[in-house]
Amino acid sequence: MGTLKIGVIGCGAIGREHIKRLSNRLTGSKVVAVMDVFEEGAKKGAAMANEGCKVYSDINAIVNDPDVDALVVTTPGFAHKDAVMAAVKAGKPVFCEKPLCTTSDDCKEIVDAEMATGKHLVQVGFMRRYDRGYKQMKELIDGGTFGKPLVIKCTHRAINVDDSYTTEMAVTDTAIHEIDVLHWLLGDDWKKVQVIMGENTKNAHEGLADPQIMIMQSKGGATVVLEVYVNCGFGYDINCEVVCEEGTITLPCPSFPTVRKDCKISTDIEQNWILRFIDSYDVELQDWIDSVAKGEVNGPNAWDGYIAEVTADALVKAQKTGTFEEVSFGDTPAFYK
Ligand code: NAP
Repeated sequence: MGTLKIGVIGCGAIGREHIKRLSNRLTGSKVVAVMDVFEEGAKKGAAMANEGCKVYSDINAIVNDPDVDALVVTTPGFAHKDAVMAAVKAGKPVFCEKPLCTTSDDCKEIVDAEMATGKHLVQVGFMRRYDRGYKQMKELIDGGTFGKPLVIKCTHRAINVDDSYTTEMAVTDTAIHEIDVLHWLLGDDWKKVQVIMGENTKNAHEGLADPQIMIMQSKGGATVVLEVYVNCGFGYDINCEVVCEEGTITLPCPSFPTVRKDCKISTDIEQNWILRFIDSYDVELQDWIDSVAKGEVNGPNAWDGYIAEVTADALVKAQKTGTFEEVSFGDTPAFYK
């Protein structure tokens, strides 16, 4: 298997994390080019990449560089569509950080463009599917001995957020991970969703509703109750319990030692998403490199990106109406089954 020569579009926080792992930690890949609208950012990205890495300021130039076999898109969400479309049109595999696009119409355009090529080219960065704990939960659910999943209780808590974080981002940036990973865990699609705004924390900035309770019902009847609380103050705290007909399954937390001191028993909580899911990003991108070599997409595909966005749209609507909103999209195309 030859080395996959990668072009990275967007050299911000996660772009640079991915450049480091693609260049130093993972096998079978090399970052040969980077692109960013912010020149200094691109140069910083290139400095972290393999020797001789080219620097571009134009999406089409990096995508169509004959030295670039595949693309990784890590720009902010609003710029994903242009980059992914350019890669699909060039017939090159592309890994796009979540969300696939910021509107469901744009995601659908990518789905249609990919299907028109007849090749599986797009993977979306929903890395929780690569987390060991979620994978173990899926094996147990799929094993069938726990019976039907009935209720899923989740928390998605962060220490704090900056002033640019909006009420809608609780859905589009934060809950989007549960929208995808729980759909995958259940092997089911979402039917209707609701958001309940409770008492606000004094720690939220002006105009931000925090915490929010999101309810999602699947077509098969499972009900999710998700607490999104992004100013919790105490840690990056991801929990998930699936209540089934014959027992319950709880997501294992990262293992920190439990210590006894000063008449207290305590265990650390992770501080942020980079640390909590660090291994998942490695496993995710290694799997992408390996599957690209086989001409496959193993992970979340463009259709998953599209239906996550349709669900997010319904949740954003539900934030405003307070009532249940339907999640509606057509049947999964045969191409994605
Ligand atoms: P970021 O730090 O703002 O980095 C984005 C970079 O892309 C910046 O350098 C930005 O330049 C550049 N950029 C903006 N518009 C561009 C364009 N049209 N073409 C090329 N580059 C452009 O953002 P981030 O935190 O890394 O997030 C990037 C993406 O990753 C987002 O979609 C985010 O949702 C996703 N993400 C996923 C996870 C996960 O857990 N899977 C975690 C974090 C982030 P300027 O600064 O000049 O605008």
